[in-house]
Amino acid sequence: MEGHPEVTVLRLGHRPGRDERMTTHVALTARALGADRAVLEPAASGSADTVRDITDRFGGPFAVEVADAPKGRIRSWDGVVAHLTMYGLPVQEVMGEVRAAHFGSEAGSEGGAVDDGDPADDGEESGPEAAGGSPLLVVVGGGKVPFEVYDRAGFNVAVTNQPHSEVAALAVFLDRLFEGRELDRQFEGGDRRVIPEETGKRVEDLE
Ligand code: SAM
Repeated sequence: MEGHPEVTVLRLGHRPGRDERMTTHVALTARALGADRAVLEPAASGSADTVRDITDRFGGPFAVEVADAPKGRIRSWDGVVAHLTMYGLPVQEVMGEVRAAHFGSEAGSEGGAVDDGDPADDGEESGPEAAGGSPLLVVVGGGKVPFEVYDRAGFNVAVTNQPHSEVAALAVFLDRLFEGRELDRQFEGGDRRVIPEETGKRVEDLE
């Protein structure tokens, strides 16, 4: 999200035919809930096209990459790696450390730096550089995830230790990471915008 070090979601283990919707939904969830980028395997290039199309229509910024060697991305990642797995440590226990590593050691409830309420502060020192944050790579699987991913990840994070879905795990993880602020994010550059209504479906044409 704007004003923070980048968050990239890497989706491993895409099974052609079986995982099309799931991979698309991983990337759409990443986009909707504050991540900056999704990296997909070449077999998921159809999902990448779908998500680019949604971003063109409903706005961004959000990037989708198709990577030839996605596991290499984990090995060479210059930042924090969080792998979502039912075998990991509970999200509610490790998120403080993940936030500190990503946003910087001063990560507080405002996401970048602790606001001490001093009106003299102009907010500039709450940026990622001032807080010393690092880009975050969030890895989710499809089929069996190779052990080297568990080994390389700085954090193996469980959203409960029950088996469920990469989409659900990613949504809870991102919401805890951003402490709900992603829900207020404004998207830019799209050609339409949904106007919230109590009943009905209203879409504003921005072109
Ligand atoms: N045995 C796999 C595992 O390692 O979690 C389950 C595969 S599951 C169908 C696909 C993906 O969903 C996993 O790779 C993981 O990223 C995510 N996932 C499923 N349950 C999870 C949980 N309780 N916590 C975090 N991530 C989970």
